[in-house]
Amino acid sequence: MLDKSGVQFIGSTGKAAGINICSLCCSLLTKRKIPQMALANDLYHGSLPEQFADLTLVEEKVCALYCITAHVTRLFQSSDPTQPRVFHGNTCTHEMNTVSMASVLPCTPTDVNGFLSVVFIGPEKFNPNRMGSLFRVRRQKIWSFLVWLHHHNALYANIPLDYSIMSLYPEDGPIPGLVECVVENHELSVDVVFGEETAGFSEHPVMMLADGAADLLGEQTIMVEKIGMLDPESNKLTGRSFVASAIRNLLPKDAADIQPDLVIHHNGRPVPEYNNPCFFPGLYPTLFPYGLGGFEIKSRPTALSFKQQAKYFLSVSNRAFHYHNSFIFVLQNILQHRQAHLQTHFTVGKSNFKSVARQLTTVSPVLLQCLALKLELEHKLVNPTNEERNALRLLQQVNTMSACIPGSQASKIFVRNEIHNDYGYFGLPHIFFTFNPSPAHSPVFQVMFGDTTVDLSKRFPMMPCGRERALRLAQDPVATTDFFEFSFRCLFHHLFRWDFDTRCSTASGGILSFV
Ligand SMILES: [Zn+2]
Repeated sequence: MLDKSGVQFIGSTGKAAGINICSLCCSLLTKRKIPQMALANDLYHGSLPEQFADLTLVEEKVCALYCITAHVTRLFQSSDPTQPRVFHGNTCTHEMNTVSMASVLPCTPTDVNGFLSVVFIGPEKFNPNRMGSLFRVRRQKIWSFLVWLHHHNALYANIPLDYSIMSLYPEDGPIPGLVECVVENHELSVDVVFGEETAGFSEHPVMMLADGAADLLGEQTIMVEKIGMLDPESNKLTGRSFVASAIRNLLPKDAADIQPDLVIHHNGRPVPEYNNPCFFPGLYPTLFPYGLGGFEIKSRPTALSFKQQAKYFLSVSNRAFHYHNSFIFVLQNILQHRQAHLQTHFTVGKSNFKSVARQLTTVSPVLLQCLALKLELEHKLVNPTNEERNALRLLQQVNTMSACIPGSQASKIFVRNEIHNDYGYFGLPHIFFTFNPSPAHSPVFQVMFGDTTVDLSKRFPMMPCGRERALRLAQDPVATTDFFEFSFRCLFHHLFRWDFDTRCSTASGGILSFV
């Protein structure tokens, strides 16, 4: 089984001339072993038939077996009165702690609306018909995809399809009932709110949307960045780093109305996240159209960890995984949960855990609050009581656990403390260096995005217009992070002569001598 993009063909004859293979795979194959990343290692996930390539996020949700994410979209309408059809913003994916499973398909519009929420800021009224493909549903498209899945995807073979539900969907238009998920604000100034939210070293790529738009006057442009709520502390606190208006949207509108705005449905059939090869195929039928190629398949000839497979999906030639709205966020969240579960497992397994646990149960929330207040006012604890000592120990236990989880608050504090320790040893640094590579203006990023027309051997390569570059940035967050990784590695390797393998300076030293 070979991937087409790894095979070289002679002209357009369709005859294969050779295949690209790395030395590791080659040596394994000569030993008659299946390489980890080979398609034959149960990694074949198939490609989506051409006619379904333009399925939208909402259409996929209508057809998905499982549902684990809720989406909050923040949209800003351009404040330029000549461009009322230019929108920008982001869609934030929230992972829920329960996975629900559909018992009959398609899902109804009410079901899907339960997972959507829109915050709209702009001078005009929110008009769902102007949202382009953002919330688009097409009755015929959905039905033919479901029928296709029923015949080709084993996970869908036993799910009853109910055509009568289809009458709830329009022929082609925004999902019915969308207006009820929208919170609007026409008073706030788009420029002020957006400026405050995106303040940074360089201007936000949205500013580039105006470039090249003159010839597209009146044309619809929607730039929506994909962001996700990561939850390193694994406590599914949805509100923590929420922007104010999105919070408002998730909370009940007033105290008398106890119906929250975003109702998260779940039923009595929870779906396991561990050792469940159907998990991702059930969530994303457009990425795994045949229900194959899931994670943690026990029968795999060569073992493949969750993390390795996650990396594999983000580096295959099929870019659908990059472009997907929530795939990477769900992936990252699962990796973090697992790290947290592992650390918990280690902590609980320690020989002194039982005695520590007994002491910890004596710590009351009231005591913790008193202690926090005391520490805040006095900065240090003089003659702590026994209970206070226990409370501090609890804090220590929690911190040692979460310091190992990338992205958590404790891990950031841990790194900060390490840097402070360096000050103590080496003295204060003389040079502070800020590095801020901008993918929006870089020809290298265009190539990483997959643009083969940009010639990097030229001194000033021809680049697409700013509007196109901004849209590319929003479309492919994976290429953006790849670009950042590539840039900082280049900088450290070539300018500072840092050797990433041995983790020390090379013998010749860089522009700052030895680091
Ligand atoms: Zn290989």
